[in-house]
Amino acid sequence: MPTCTKQILPGQIIGIVGGGQLGQMMTLVAKEMGFRVIILDPQADCPAGQVADDQIVAAYDDQSQIMALAKRVDVLTYEFENVDAQTIEAAQAYTWIPQGTKALRIAQDRLLEKQFLVDQQLPHAAFEIVTTQAELVTAVAKVGFPCLLKTTRGGYDGKGQVILRSATDIAAAEQLLTAGICVLEAMVHFDQEISVMISQNSSGQQAIFPVIENQHRDNISHISICPARIPAALAEQAQSVAAKIAAQIELVGTLGVEFFVGQDGQLYVNEIAPRPHNSGHLTIEACDFSQFATHIRGVCNWPLQQPRLWQSAIVVNVLGQHWQVALDASRQSAVWHYHDYGKDVQKTNRKMGHVTVLTNTVEETLVALKATKIWD
Ligand code: AMP
Repeated sequence: MPTCTKQILPGQIIGIVGGGQLGQMMTLVAKEMGFRVIILDPQADCPAGQVADDQIVAAYDDQSQIMALAKRVDVLTYEFENVDAQTIEAAQAYTWIPQGTKALRIAQDRLLEKQFLVDQQLPHAAFEIVTTQAELVTAVAKVGFPCLLKTTRGGYDGKGQVILRSATDIAAAEQLLTAGICVLEAMVHFDQEISVMISQNSSGQQAIFPVIENQHRDNISHISICPARIPAALAEQAQSVAAKIAAQIELVGTLGVEFFVGQDGQLYVNEIAPRPHNSGHLTIEACDFSQFATHIRGVCNWPLQQPRLWQSAIVVNVLGQHWQVALDASRQSAVWHYHDYGKDVQKTNRKMGHVTVLTNTVEETLVALKATKIWD
């Protein structure tokens, strides 16, 4: 990446498309550094809107309002990967968007993502592209059971995917094909799921975070532990894969790479998310620079270096069904770092906040968290 001398300075304005918890945590860091922040989100008083200088209340796909935002800001970023890449490209006429759309386009389309992994010779599960019922049958024969059929666009938290364990599941899976091109992926028999958060600025300087271990429930992130309890050599390999991805997609800001650690001891890249990631929330307390700080520094082209992990940490998500009990326990605890995103309605499985615990004894802290029964 060529050296870029442009920097965004305190007093200048950052625009963020999307006003959920990721936008909120980006904004808090940006405010600490003296930037002004304008959010675009359809919901008035959204989590990020509550802490920003201003909010444009508009849909994420409202082209004219995104252009209006672009005209008011010195740099534009986004908090999620489903913002329309063409709109972002058009907005480049009005403001600086150092992230560009390369990472966005790849992360939005499983097909491009898989092609990228193949081109870069990065480790991934075997897959076949499927558009018709006949192709599905042929693909299943090649990939074998068990496998997963996934839509190429719009899936998140396990939505838009079906597990096929035997031929009897093929008929049900065919339903997904009506949504468009799909990818049939071999099921990876994994021991662990891990992620690496990485940030880069417009001059190509990188900040690679220590590897994080993740557990999901119902495909929703539940608990993350840092550092991941995996061999050092595997952690280094995961970090170097993330570094290669960041360099190749000319990353600016923060990106999360999700991996499976197979029972065969191999790494498999599962997904690339060009934004801060749920698992990285623990970096707020556990590291000298959080994934949100390095995102803002990356986007504003401030220098980056390797983040330092002060202490091991565990983060647990607080969903709608946990909110009241997690709050009751947090307000009695002197050691839990309680985060509440300020969402108005507590719906089941809606991410309402998280709790981070710094610890020198990960196993004991996991037992203690379980003993609260909050997350049963
Ligand atoms: P995704 O939306 O692709 O991140 O998938 C959601 C979850 O489904 C992952 O976190 C895994 O637990 C599981 N999953 C997805 N793809 C695979 C795979 N190829 N092998 C095993 N589990 C998978």
